[in-house]
Amino acid sequence: MRVARIDGRWVLLVGGGFVDVASASGGRFGNGDPMGVFDDWAGFVEWAGGVGGGEPLGNRRLQNPVPRPTQVFAVGANYQAHLIEAGAPEGTTQKDALIFTKFPSCLVGPFDPIPIPNETVDWEVELVVVMGRRAERVRADRAWEYVAGLTVGQDISDRTLQFVGLAPQFSMSKSYPGFGPLGPALVTLDEFANPDDLELGCALDGNVMQKGRTGDLIFAVPELIERLSAVCPLLPGDLIFTGTPAGVGAFRKPPVFLQPGQELTSWIEGIGELRNPTVVGPSQEERTS
Ligand code: ZN
Repeated sequence: MRVARIDGRWVLLVGGGFVDVASASGGRFGNGDPMGVFDDWAGFVEWAGGVGGGEPLGNRRLQNPVPRPTQVFAVGANYQAHLIEAGAPEGTTQKDALIFTKFPSCLVGPFDPIPIPNETVDWEVELVVVMGRRAERVRADRAWEYVAGLTVGQDISDRTLQFVGLAPQFSMSKSYPGFGPLGPALVTLDEFANPDDLELGCALDGNVMQKGRTGDLIFAVPELIERLSAVCPLLPGDLIFTGTPAGVGAFRKPPVFLQPGQELTSWIEGIGELRNPTVVGPSQEERTS
């Protein structure tokens, strides 16, 4: 099942078209509350399994499929090749997952513009996990049972703000408006032959910058859920950005950063593609108040 949003409404993508969830369910799901389907995800999945038909998409634009998560977790340096390109000596191992947040106000849709606030903005394509049930102290071997589905995310990052302090400052540097493109749909696990090993990548103006496999995650999805839920109960609709493979711009020689007027394409096998144009961001000298 592929769940998306159009004009602020939940839709199922079926047979090349879409079905409006609130109308088709007689108001049982997706009415009003933008995160409503997560209140009874199991019931929603059961209901959605019987839905067919669908209106053609036409030129309707898909929006962020998970607009208001309560918590957004993100994982740093979770692919070995990315850890090494970031400057860690060969053979370095991660003893525990490095966790930060992307503040939810940074989240946007799969085709929305990314405003570029300065000259050091970078890309990071990532598999994003969407939680379907409350998960508290969940063991890795049961962790997938708590997942609603998977989607594509971009963990856009300002490298200047990230490294300006005494210790790296991930959460702020990755939370400007537009720094969290997500989508194009939330795809349930039954759609994947192996959700633990998916190809992912991104391209800038058609040039492939990153290409990897989630099978190379240092801490795989079940392990991340075990570690996160040992501390924070994970709530339905919460997101986990699982980390990015090698090929970001900052560690290239010379470094490459996003400029306004480009197109960033990000994809994961079996989920789909984000296509985000970059635009001129607000000047940091101008303040609205
Ligand atoms: Zn990241």
